[in-house]
Amino acid sequence: MARRKKIYEGKAKILYEGPEPGTIVQYFKDDATAFNAEKRQVIEGKGVLNNRLSEFFMTGLNAIGVPTHFIKRLNMREQLVRAVEIIPLEIVVRNVAAGSLAKRLGMEEGADLPRPIVEYYYKDDKLGDPMVTEEHIAAFGWASQADMDDIVALALRVNDYLSGLMYGVGIKLVDFKIEVGRVYDGDFQRLIVADEISPDSCRLWDIETGKKLDKDVFRRDLGNLADAYTEVAQRLGVMPKQAAQMGKPRLIN
Ligand code: 5GP
Repeated sequence: MARRKKIYEGKAKILYEGPEPGTIVQYFKDDATAFNAEKRQVIEGKGVLNNRLSEFFMTGLNAIGVPTHFIKRLNMREQLVRAVEIIPLEIVVRNVAAGSLAKRLGMEEGADLPRPIVEYYYKDDKLGDPMVTEEHIAAFGWASQADMDDIVALALRVNDYLSGLMYGVGIKLVDFKIEVGRVYDGDFQRLIVADEISPDSCRLWDIETGKKLDKDVFRRDLGNLADAYTEVAQRLGVMPKQAAQMGKPRLIN
């Protein structure tokens, strides 16, 4: 069998050419990195959990009419997705002050924000993904004004969907990052949610205790990351409850 072609390898995922034109196979690695890859560790089972959780979120978004790149899960670590022209921005939505916002503005972590705040960061590892404004985005031609309207609408719809889903299982969606890509359908082009949505790219706090259930567990040495992600998967019904006692993540189908 011919070896498939690797298109790109990032910190947490590898992209391979898909079986049909316009498709890509997205492989989830177990590698965890933080602080622009200065801190790194292999966390057994993380890739399996993120593959399944990203499938769960993207399937739900597709079902309520928020377009995503997700087509189907192929196996424990891989999913088939639509190839997109990625917009070189990380789009962050925040509901609660935390992380870089709390630091930048001298705010207490956990303070509620008056409304969801959308921020943009230029995707460039060498520069450490610097924050940019719509002025930079327009001036450098990374996205048009019409694209930006679509990006904000997508980001806020993802926020509403994910916030509600998490609230239902006792988790506060503090903030998250998405990426957006352009696809062409005949003469039309549109923007869709791409990359992944997982506890690697969200902040998730238990509503009652404030316990962190996201990548901050790794960034701040707060415990076992796979256990935290397993708890998120279990609460959402993606994993059976008894799997926690059985050591390694065991996913439903
Ligand atoms: P902050 O700007 O506070 O560091 O991050 C805000 C939110 O976006 C957090 O949920 C964080 O996990 C996510 N985020 C920001 N940059 C990245 C990134 O480069 N990779 C991933 N996976 N998530 C990010």
